Amino acid sequence: MKNRILPEFIRLGVRQKVLLVLLSVLLTALSISGWLALKQEKKDTLKEINQRGNDISRFVAKSLAYSVVGYDYHTIQLLLDEITMAEDVGYAKVFNAKGKTMAESGLLHESNDSNVVMFAQDILLEQDIVGKLTLGLDTKSTLYRLESQKFALVRREALIIILIAFGEFLALSYIIIRPVSIMSKSLDNSVDENGKIVSSVPVTSKDEFGRLAMQFNRLGEQLNDANERLQTRVDVADEKLLTNNRMLMRQSSELKRISEEFKKMSITDSLTGLYNRRRFEELMETEVAMSIRHGDTNSLLIIDIDYFKAVNDKYGHPAGDKVLKEVSGILKDNLRKTDILCRVGGEEFVALCKRADRSAAFVVGEKLRTEVRNNIVKFDQDDINVTISVGVATIDKQSEGVSTEGLYKQADIAVYHSKESGRDRVTHYNDMASLADYDQQQRSNNT
Ligand code: GH3
Ligand code: MG
Ligand code: MG
Repeated sequence: MKNRILPEFIRLGVRQKVLLVLLSVLLTALSISGWLALKQEKKDTLKEINQRGNDISRFVAKSLAYSVVGYDYHTIQLLLDEITMAEDVGYAKVFNAKGKTMAESGLLHESNDSNVVMFAQDILLEQDIVGKLTLGLDTKSTLYRLESQKFALVRREALIIILIAFGEFLALSYIIIRPVSIMSKSLDNSVDENGKIVSSVPVTSKDEFGRLAMQFNRLGEQLNDANERLQTRVDVADEKLLTNNRMLMRQSSELKRISEEFKKMSITDSLTGLYNRRRFEELMETEVAMSIRHGDTNSLLIIDIDYFKAVNDKYGHPAGDKVLKEVSGILKDNLRKTDILCRVGGEEFVALCKRADRSAAFVVGEKLRTEVRNNIVKFDQDDINVTISVGVATIDKQSEGVSTEGLYKQADIAVYHSKESGRDRVTHYNDMASLADYDQQQRSNNT
């Protein structure tokens, strides 16, 4: 968190940080050592100047003693001149015992020349003070010499400290930074796409870093083991899931097949394999109703086997079944693929002929009738002749207000008419001479 708000240039590596610390330590050490050396040098300089001033004063005072006692002004002057010509004595003055000036040489700068240090020395002869010497020592050259000595010393010290620091840096690099950077490099890209730890950290020493590397490697192995165990369990679970899934899918497709079978069974007549009444009613409610709404032309044929009860009675029920099967086969073979054939009762069939108009539907009815009539059903040794009566009704744009029920009713009336007219015939509802008359006739017959 902290690193994020730090400017980029402060984010240094361990090597740079160590170098920075060493440099700051070095700088501090240099400053302290310089300051201490300066303090010491100041003391030494003063001591040396004092020493030198006192030495010269004592020597000159000793040399002057006899000349002062003998009032040899000339010799004193010569001596003082000689002294002041020397490198670092700038001024010299001699007084007698009464304090009177006997000779003076050199210039005493009245200015604030701090380089001149004054020394006073009694001139003694056999323990008696015979005069006094004042000496001005010019410390410029002494100071310069000491200064150069001091800088040479500081330079040498600095060089030694730099060398030590560099050596320390190399040692630290080898001991600490190198293992850290080896570990860091080893840990880069150490995990593959499966989450497995693939690289191990090389163990280069037996110290804490070596132990750390070993611990990391051991941890990596443990993690890989755990990962593998987990993966195995996941694989087993996956396999189980897959098996269960396959089983479920099998069961589901089996269920689907059974359900489709049931659905098919529920709409199929088991004897003939044709659609049953239920399917017929569904179709009337959906497809036929929609077709009527669109104003399409549709025809409905009701086909009823004639005297079928007599067939059963004469040849037996199995023979009747065979008749039913053969008749349904004939009907199916003589209808178009788009037509729909259903067995709606015992020996009653319905054919829905799409886009068949009145005359076309009649022709279809006739064809069915003749095909059934011409076919002889063979059962055991018997030849069974079968005929059908057909009633046809058509619905088209002109048939206003006619519903599916109406259409069925018309076809039913027509088939009834075929039966009544002698059987083995086709009647189209619209061809019936007069429906009203016919109805009336029916009613009077019933009463
Ligand atoms: P019609 O000419 O007036 O139609 O007379 P029909 O004898 O054909 O008609 P009816 O309704 O009197 O008799 C139909 C018979 O069909 C009665 C019934 O036993 C028989 N039947 C119904 N279903 C089956 C079946 O699945 N198999 C057999 N063998 N006979 C059946
Ligand atoms: Mg019948
Ligand atoms: Mg019938």
